[in-house]
Formats: sequence, structure tokens, C-alpha cells
Amino acid sequence: MVGPPRSAYLHIPFCHKRCFYCDFSIIPLGDSAQDPDSPRITSINAYLDLLHREISIAPKGPALSTIYLGGGTPSLLTKNEVGDLLKNLQRKFGFQDGAEITMEVDPATFFENDLNGYIGIGINRFSLGAQSFDDSTLASIGRKHNRSQLIEACDWVNKLFKKGVLRSWSLDLIQNLPGLNLSKWIKELEQAVLSEAPHLSIYDLTIEPDTVFGRLHKKGNLNIPIDSEAQKIDFETNRLLKSRGFARYEISSYSLPGHVSRHNRMYWSGSGWWGFGMGATSAPWGERFSRPRTIAGYKKWLEQQESHLLEKTLSNEKSKPMPLDELLMIGLRKREGVHLEELAENAGWTQKECEKNLKSLENFWVNSINEGSLLRHNGRYFLSDPKGMQISNQILIEMFLWWDSLDRDQ
Ligand code: SF4
Repeated sequence: MVGPPRSAYLHIPFCHKRCFYCDFSIIPLGDSAQDPDSPRITSINAYLDLLHREISIAPKGPALSTIYLGGGTPSLLTKNEVGDLLKNLQRKFGFQDGAEITMEVDPATFFENDLNGYIGIGINRFSLGAQSFDDSTLASIGRKHNRSQLIEACDWVNKLFKKGVLRSWSLDLIQNLPGLNLSKWIKELEQAVLSEAPHLSIYDLTIEPDTVFGRLHKKGNLNIPIDSEAQKIDFETNRLLKSRGFARYEISSYSLPGHVSRHNRMYWSGSGWWGFGMGATSAPWGERFSRPRTIAGYKKWLEQQESHLLEKTLSNEKSKPMPLDELLMIGLRKREGVHLEELAENAGWTQKECEKNLKSLENFWVNSINEGSLLRHNGRYFLSDPKGMQISNQILIEMFLWWDSLDRDQ
């Protein structure tokens, strides 16, 4: 069973505008999002009020060791707004000594001095949403920032890191964007390494149906790298970053020694976490629970929780651990993979169920094991790197086919 949560995620849904690939739960505020006289004040204030209320009615729990402010674009908030949220969380749970407190920041939304302000109220790790260093790529995916703003932002963050006032920082890039090829991608990676970020998140582009890219893709008008090129790109990411001292500790995450994201590791280990805010997912004791993705839906949901206290909803979750298919899906992302029997026990399986069902999973994975994409050692299964990590989806599909084939008693 998963223990009580020691991590919290706060969703800050505001952005200037929606990027062409993004289907997150966000509220676009337009170009005047940071103008103090714009209507943004009303909508941000109203949302923050809901968020504070949700934190206030959460059950108590142990002190937090990781806190993550994601979005959306948390750097559209002022340092006082972020500081008030942290104070509220701290009042509710307390923070462990040395807690990792990460905030996502968007290059087009802050100046050097703003970063000092965020650090002053407790942020000790920034995650910078770069996505690309190429101006035409950035424009073609609908991002607001350009290359020179991004490089300047990297310099500001890195200066604070080198001064020792920031514990770590991370840069996000997306591989397989439209128009990308191997030689362009190598330039992106080289620039990311030059930024001296000690942690890099390298995501594959996912085409979501209800986005600009989803619509273009449906019409056959999205020029994304074909599979063989995408494999070369992923292979090169792995080769180049390892040659520069990075370790791949999870499918999309590379870090220099000592800079693994503790919050990321928590997600992939299947531990529980609190989630607060519109569209946020939480899994305090295992099973996931997602909040409504619109502000009106979130407000209504919160009012219902307030009338019979969130504690009641969450205590229902306490009785349901995360199902084994989900634990496998997230656990296989990690370099060290999963111990199948331990995971089944965490999912609440009895010894009898393990004996009846676990062996047959290998039949579904037999090809992946034979071709060396999935490795086994002492009951532990893990993806080979890069081969297995590149075809992780196929290995997960095989696992889900096994899951659907089960005739479990419970
Ligand atoms: S900035 Fe991030 S959250 Fe906002 S629209 Fe773009 S991708 Fe989505």
C-alpha cells in the first residue's frame, strides 16, 4: 500500500495564449496578462481564492518533501501570490527540512529580478519551459518567447544556480516537432548543454486531437519526423547527453549527478501526492482523482466538497490502492524498472492472485524480452536504454493486453 503523501502539486492554469500542441487545463489571458491594470487581476484573484480554499479543506498529512508549481504558467503570478500559496500549504502540512520546491517558469514572463523574488519566498528549483531554441520552430508551435529571450532567461537562472542560491534547475525541450530533422535537433541539444542546465526533460511531441496540431495532423498537414527519423533523434539525444555526463533516470529525464528531480521520482515510484487546482490530478493514497478542467466546473466541485468536506472524498480513495496496470505503466519509465511481485502487493493483490496471474505477463512480453528491449533480473523488469525506452509504448501495449486478458476474482 502507498503511504501518506509527502508531495504536493499546485496547478496555476494561466497562460498568455494556448500553444498549438497543448491540451492542458489552462486559461489564456492574452498579451496583457502581466499588465496590472488588465482584467487578469480579476480572474487570477478569483482562481487563487478557490485554490486557497481547496488547500484549506484538505485533510492533514505529514510534512511535505516536494512541492511543484506547474501549469499553465506559474511565472504569471507575482512573488507575493506564490508566497501566499506556499504559506498556506506550509500551514496545512509543514515542509520537511530541505524540501524541494520547484516552479515552472516561462521565458517570456519574467526578468532576472523576478527570479530573486521567487527564491526569496522559498522556491529552490526552476523548470524553464524552453521547448526549442529555434525562432522559426518556436513561432510554428505558437510559443510566445524567442531564442534570445530564452538564452537570456537561461543565463539569469544559471547565474543564480552558480551563486548557490538556487539548488537546481531544469530545461524542457520537445523532440520530434514539425520540421525537425537530426541535424537541427543536434543544434538544439548542443544549445541546451551550453545553457549548463543540470537537468533536462526531453519530451516526445504528443498529438492531442483537440489542438491546432491535432487538426492539422488529421488533414495530413503536420510535417513531423517519420518514425525512423524520430528513432535516430532519440538515439542521438541519448548518446550526446550521456557523453556530456547526463544519466537518463527516466524515459524523458536526464540529469547530472545530484540533480535528479525528487518530485519526478515520486510520480514514477507510484507514491501518493496531493494535487490542488483546476484540472489537477491527485493520488493521495493510490487511486488517481482528477478535478474538473474548467473554472466553472472546478468552482462547483469545490463548493460540493466544502459542503461535505474534501476529507470525505479523499478518505474514500484511501481504501483503493493504485491498480497494477497503472503502477506498471509509470514504474517502467524509470531506469531501474519495476519488481513485479512487489508492485502487485502494493496494488493489493493476494499471494493467490499473484501466483495465478503474474506468470502469464511474460507470454505477452516474450518478443520484447527476446529482442532485448525488456530486460529481467531477480524479478525486476526494466527497459533497455535506448532500445527499450524508444519502444516503451509497444511494451506498455503488450502489458495492457495482458491486463485485459485477466480474469481476476476481485
Ligand atoms: S505555455 Fe505550456 S501550459 Fe501554456 S499553453 Fe503553452 S504548453 Fe500549454
